[in-house]
Amino acid sequence: MEEKKKQTEPEACKVEKKCGGCQYQGVPYKEQLKKKQKMVNALLSKYGKVEPIIGMENPYYYRNKVHAVFDRDRKGNIVSGTYEAKTHRVVPVENCLIEDKKSQEIIRTIRGLLKSFKIKTYDEDTGYGLFRHVLIRRGFKSGEIMVVLVLGSPILPSSNNFVKALRKEHPEITTVVLNINDRKTSMILGEREKVLYGKGFIRDELCGCTFRISPKSFYQVNPVQTEILYQKAIEFAHLTGKESVIDAYCGIGTIGLIASGHAKEVVGVELNKDAVKDAILNAKENQIRNVRFFQGDAGEFMETMAAEGNSMDVLFMDPPRAGSDEKFMASAVKMGPEKIVYISCNPETLARDLKYLTKKGYQVKKIQPVEMFAFTEHVETVCLLSKKCPV
Ligand code: SAH
Repeated sequence: MEEKKKQTEPEACKVEKKCGGCQYQGVPYKEQLKKKQKMVNALLSKYGKVEPIIGMENPYYYRNKVHAVFDRDRKGNIVSGTYEAKTHRVVPVENCLIEDKKSQEIIRTIRGLLKSFKIKTYDEDTGYGLFRHVLIRRGFKSGEIMVVLVLGSPILPSSNNFVKALRKEHPEITTVVLNINDRKTSMILGEREKVLYGKGFIRDELCGCTFRISPKSFYQVNPVQTEILYQKAIEFAHLTGKESVIDAYCGIGTIGLIASGHAKEVVGVELNKDAVKDAILNAKENQIRNVRFFQGDAGEFMETMAAEGNSMDVLFMDPPRAGSDEKFMASAVKMGPEKIVYISCNPETLARDLKYLTKKGYQVKKIQPVEMFAFTEHVETVCLLSKKCPV
């Protein structure tokens, strides 16, 4: 048994403790799923039966988004990796077990190029130096790869040759973007961008639709499981083609666009300006005409919609880890959709929001955890609520 395991599973992670990204390194995958199931059960079973978590067939190298911060070690060698948990020290990472392998290779190449091009890494304490981070996104279906080089100031010397050398090693790279982040911050990306090569975004496919993804737009990090998650969400909504649907916290419009074929109309709302631009273009590129997207805070948008007397039949909501706010949920309840499909990446805030919604006339019908983040303690859950019939 032990022998076989060694052949199929990659070597253990060497920086697990310092990196802090994975809480379940060294825990057999089946055990990880059990732990997640237990956590969701503990938080949510008071609202209804929690279905068994949908695990991954292959839980390794699944992340389509890979980030590395750059620095120098004491000997002056360029290193790249992650921040040590709760500090700004850089932990060098050579082989991460959950990040896309090709993207990791590209990061190694960039490290070598920085040396040959004599480009200095940025020092967070002094603000000297140039090169801060690399962010890579790979479309698992399309094969397109975007490399974002994050600098402390706007000019990369010999940028043409740098990109040429990088693409010579990795011809799969379809676009290279410069991002300028000159603030003392742990945020990776700054506001300003300049496209050095290609179109400045990548495309990928999910559930039969194509999506463009810009550097600053949100895109689910586990593409294989995302299709499963979205299919569950759409199955729960039980659309017949007659419904008015809201896709709140819609990102680049994925859920709303995939659902649009089964609904009368879809309205999406999203705070991030670049993501909304992507969403509008995604509708066009997929020739979908019954969808509109709006930029703004989802709570404020819902408040206005409710105040204007709008209604809807189905609400998809997929808020960030902090969950939704009362402004949003109070307005949602006021508009009174028959069904709410709540997609959550944090069962704790989901539990809090379910408490509110179940007090305001909704009943939890289904709770389905889906694995999106193997080797970490994070868990995604999709939950169906429906309006209680008045007695
Ligand atoms: N449904 C999308 C995105 C989910 S992630 C998908 O599956 O890809 C959550 C999204 O909520 C992010 O795109 C984030 O930019 C957005 N967001 C965060 N706060 C928001 C707010 N107050 N109002 C609207 N959108 C918000």
